[in-house]
Amino acid sequence: MLATVPFALAALLATATPAAAGTTGSAGVGDPYFPLAGNGGYHVRHYDLTLRYDIRGRHLDGRAVLSARATQPLTRFDLDLTGLTVTGVTVDHARATYRRDGQELVVTPRHALRTGQRFRVTVTYNGVPKPVTDPDGSPDGWIPTDDGAFVAGEPQGAMTWFPGNNHPLDKASYDFTLTVPQGRTAVANGVLLGTRTARGATTFRWHQAEPMAAYLATATIGAFKVRQYTTRDGIRVYDAVDPREAGAAEPVLKRLPEVLSWESRIFGPYPFRAAGSIVDHAPDVGYALETQTRPVYDSAPDVDTLVHESAHQWFGDSVSLTSWKDIWLNEGFATYASWLYDEQHGGPSAQRTFDSLYARPASDPLWAYPPADPGSGARIFGTPVYARGAMALQVLRRAVGDRAFWRVLRGWAGEHRYGHGTTAGFVALTERLTGKNVDALLHTWLYAPGKPARP
Ligand code: ZN
Repeated sequence: MLATVPFALAALLATATPAAAGTTGSAGVGDPYFPLAGNGGYHVRHYDLTLRYDIRGRHLDGRAVLSARATQPLTRFDLDLTGLTVTGVTVDHARATYRRDGQELVVTPRHALRTGQRFRVTVTYNGVPKPVTDPDGSPDGWIPTDDGAFVAGEPQGAMTWFPGNNHPLDKASYDFTLTVPQGRTAVANGVLLGTRTARGATTFRWHQAEPMAAYLATATIGAFKVRQYTTRDGIRVYDAVDPREAGAAEPVLKRLPEVLSWESRIFGPYPFRAAGSIVDHAPDVGYALETQTRPVYDSAPDVDTLVHESAHQWFGDSVSLTSWKDIWLNEGFATYASWLYDEQHGGPSAQRTFDSLYARPASDPLWAYPPADPGSGARIFGTPVYARGAMALQVLRRAVGDRAFWRVLRGWAGEHRYGHGTTAGFVALTERLTGKNVDALLHTWLYAPGKPARP
């Protein structure tokens, strides 16, 4: 009896906390490279996005319903959204007040939220989405094309087409209901639940069940050729290809089932129930993105790119970044995957690829900065992150031996499946799974400025 008193008292204190003592969340999760990305104070569990796109007018009409949970008492909170016009916000069906402040949509619910409280935010909005320009100069977000839109959001562009908690730290499941003019196809993540055509418009309903970072969401639209099939492993594949790219793309896309099963043998089971490729004709984009379950390519990919974006499904999508400075955990691993693929498919060994890169002089841009914590958002997609990041893995492989190295790759993907990783966590896991002290070696290859001494 006595023992229950402290609990009862604690409960009383918790409920007695006046709403006025609530906090206002924060305009960012504290990422040093993108200080305003994401928001503090709540976690989104699910996004339900209903979008209609007028291709000729480039006009988007949207409704986003976010199912969220407060992680602290909140009298107001932020969502990330840039451009577009917000026409209404409700929290649990009660009209909320809101204002725009740069990329923050600041929402004040009628009633303050308690820690742990589940709540539902509905935002209606519309306008002509404008891509953001990343620190490296690339367009990012909703990028119009001649027949629709190329939609890719790494690292910041998700906020150009839906309001949310735009940092990989916050992952959620998604539903998409996308309406486009009849004859066009709208492709999102996950499985296609159904399509319906009425009055000259077609609606595509997509469901992404496994948790996904906002930057990996897509709703790419075009006049695509579509192919659907199920692999021998039971993965549902949906390919959408711009006819202008079809000749070059088809022989490469055909290899997806083989690539995914090869990767599954090395990295462990494929993390998702759906797969596929979106091959657009988007000459102004300049990159491909590992959009979850179904990467989006700005033109027909080669096999190395297919292997790279597929490897990201394990490294980047299933195992997410905690902070953008750890980007080599995505790009170094995906790059290394294509070295390994080449090694095991009649190409040069990973060591040879390493050697030819290592031969570059100390003045080469490859050595301009280290891959882990490259220094700014402008450098996250630079050569050191991709190539030296992969080189660090080859150095590790040589130090611990092949069998231990395979254990590390599988262990990393398995232990953080659907979750998050950090560089320190990777080093710790490596030492635990190999029993070798690789801390100094990895530290040199990941963090030391300049060209490391030959290992
Ligand atoms: Zn990549």
